[in-house]
Amino acid sequence: MSAKYAMISTWKMSLAGMRKAKRLMESGGSARDALAAAITDVEDDPAFHSVGYSGLPNARGEVELDAGFMNGRDLSFGAVSGVKNIQNPILVARELSGLARSCFLTAAGAESYAAAHGFAMRNMLTEDALAAYRREMAKQTAVREADPAADAHDTVCVVAQDTDAELYAGVSTSGLFMKHPGRVGDSPVIGSGFYCDSTAGGAAATGFGEDVMRGCLSVRIVGRIAAGRSPQEACEEVLEAHLARLADAGYTPGNISVIALGRDGRFGAATNRAEFPFVVFDEAREATLMVCRSDGGRIRVEEADAAWLESYKGD
Ligand code: ASP
Repeated sequence: MSAKYAMISTWKMSLAGMRKAKRLMESGGSARDALAAAITDVEDDPAFHSVGYSGLPNARGEVELDAGFMNGRDLSFGAVSGVKNIQNPILVARELSGLARSCFLTAAGAESYAAAHGFAMRNMLTEDALAAYRREMAKQTAVREADPAADAHDTVCVVAQDTDAELYAGVSTSGLFMKHPGRVGDSPVIGSGFYCDSTAGGAAATGFGEDVMRGCLSVRIVGRIAAGRSPQEACEEVLEAHLARLADAGYTPGNISVIALGRDGRFGAATNRAEFPFVVFDEAREATLMVCRSDGGRIRVEEADAAWLESYKGD
């Protein structure tokens, strides 16, 4: 049986936005708008330093943001990368998905498009983020331009399905803390950071973008769902195969976590971290925090309990 609507998102930081999205869906809103509400909630919250306002800066102390959006009905997509002062990059990515050409814009070109089309502009660098940058710089003897200095990054990713079994995917991130200026990760790259096709399902990824891009993980997961796997099987199979391939090629992969949603509302997640929190809801279930655990490659997914919530320190 299909769900009337369902949504899945990455990280605990998406919980408040997913509650808002659930209210929107209950009152007859579209999955497209609910997805944007969930993501802008994280973009606007200065408590989260890996997305939007107050995102952690690059090696030059500048915040560079990436976002992407896809509509699984007509395979339209939009994306922005390396934007410095757009308040809600996801909204610009979503607007760009209406264009058949020039729908992925970068840096100054994306900023001038956003300003010309009435999107809110804002200095996205906060005192807090600047202080974190200065602390990081003080630790370094030389600027390690190409080397992300700290394990401080995450992406808010959302996959949404609604009544007509239409699917949407959206992501927003400030990328890796201390990244090389101009570095773009997987997040705004269709097929890697996000993908959806309403005939099958949608998927998105968070973690070290270069390792995700090497395997184009999101489109591969959707391909597995199209071939008949459940979203959970698809996430596990694709991540396991990719990690093995990276190891064969001599890489020591960074953290990678993936989420997926089928057109029937079933969801899945996989990770190579000890634990990866994510959020789900559908018409029968409130926004619920889940934890995906990898124990030597064996994936377990369960609801987060009070003890876990107490002990979890991340976003
Ligand atoms: N995938 C993002 C990037 O590489 C970071 C993350 O999701 O943790 O920019």
